[in-house]
Amino acid sequence: MSTAYRQLPAVETLVNATSTRLNGHLPTRDVLVETARIVLGEARRAIADGGTAPPAEQLEELLIARVQAIAQPSLWPVINASGVIIQTNLGRAPLSRTALQAMEAVGAGYSNLEYDLEAGQRGSRHSHLNEILCRLTGAEATLTVNNNAAAVYLVLLALAAGREVIVSRGQAVEIGGGFRIPDVLRASGASLVEVGTTNRTYAHDYQAAITEHTALLMRIHTSNFRLVGFVHETSLADMVEVAQRNSIRVLDDLGSGSLLSTAQYGLAPEPTVQQAIATGADLVTFSGDKLLGGPQAGIIVGRRQLIEALKHHPLARALRLDKTTIAGLEATLQSYLRNRATEEIPVWQMISATPEAIRLRAVGCAAILGSQVEVVPCHSAVGGGSLPGETLPSYGVAVSTDQPDALARALRAGSTPVVGRIHEGRLLLDLRTVLPEQETMFVTAVRETLRDPY
Ligand SMILES: *Cc1c(COP(=O)(O)O)cnc(C)c1O
Repeated sequence: MSTAYRQLPAVETLVNATSTRLNGHLPTRDVLVETARIVLGEARRAIADGGTAPPAEQLEELLIARVQAIAQPSLWPVINASGVIIQTNLGRAPLSRTALQAMEAVGAGYSNLEYDLEAGQRGSRHSHLNEILCRLTGAEATLTVNNNAAAVYLVLLALAAGREVIVSRGQAVEIGGGFRIPDVLRASGASLVEVGTTNRTYAHDYQAAITEHTALLMRIHTSNFRLVGFVHETSLADMVEVAQRNSIRVLDDLGSGSLLSTAQYGLAPEPTVQQAIATGADLVTFSGDKLLGGPQAGIIVGRRQLIEALKHHPLARALRLDKTTIAGLEATLQSYLRNRATEEIPVWQMISATPEAIRLRAVGCAAILGSQVEVVPCHSAVGGGSLPGETLPSYGVAVSTDQPDALARALRAGSTPVVGRIHEGRLLLDLRTVLPEQETMFVTAVRETLRDPY
């Protein structure tokens, strides 16, 4: 046993041999020493499990691979050929050109983030997004934080801690990634009062549950979950009426929160933020990076007095936005203001792309990829918790192979990873979510993967 251990080099020896081979492309010596210890520790454990000492050459290779892996970026662009437009695992909304330009301009230097240029004194970072959000949504005031989970949490903490929040039983759901509305309520110090049954909740159910401890009626978009059949949800208008009669407030968590109508693209109507405000919701919360198509953010719009209370809550500071996010969000909102969202914002370009336009792109790709692929009709999804079960007719290229899983893995492992899906035993690559400027890279990545054995 002891001889195998003795064949392992000392840390110092391994580090010296490796740094000669890395020949200048070195991480700091500390990183090299630390990583050498890890590699040798693993070798010792392998010996303890009955293995032999790996040759010095192999240990050097291992160490080089490890330090090179650390030096590589971990966060990396991928090509989304899954057909799901707002894919949380793939980073949700790709940003518009104008958003990226604004983020670069503001991020590369100093800005008037909290500086009033006219007065030459301290300003407010909230001022940049407020006016434009009010114009677009019809709200009196707004506050923007890090994401929608933070928006909901801040509202509950500031307006309902120690009091009761009434939620329909059918809406007390988990949104995804373990984000459960009942847990968020509990964490904020509010208590959840569930009313109605899983499938049916009426205005009188809310009315009957109201006590002197009630702070809010809360409506929650059920996101990826949908009840069908014998279902009744109380309309926002009816909730507003009950709330006003009892002098309490309505919070509407829209989740995706669209500013445009999805119905014009053959989809079910996703409630818009403007509608929620016009119907009388006191506060509405939604994400910046779902159907809005901007950077990650949580947007709160509604009554001025309530927004002021949120702004002055100590947690508001902990949840505030970074300057680059404000710049990107403002540029995204300006596309809506100019009525250019469908032309400029990638999420809406993808939603509005016609099946025929996508088919032509698929035909172009297939012509280069050759006989192994076939152009096929398929269905894309909007994703992001909006419009569950709704699909958009689309086209993709399908690759016939004995080993679709191995091919999918090989495509993900390339230097430009491509994420597709397996459908009826074939690997399907939906062109709707492949950004037009990525198309050449996409074809190259697929062609190279198909050429080599996988
Ligand atoms: C997505 C979603 C959230 C969480 O929003 P994030 O921006 O991911 O933090 C909250 N509520 C609903 C209804 C959602 O769909």
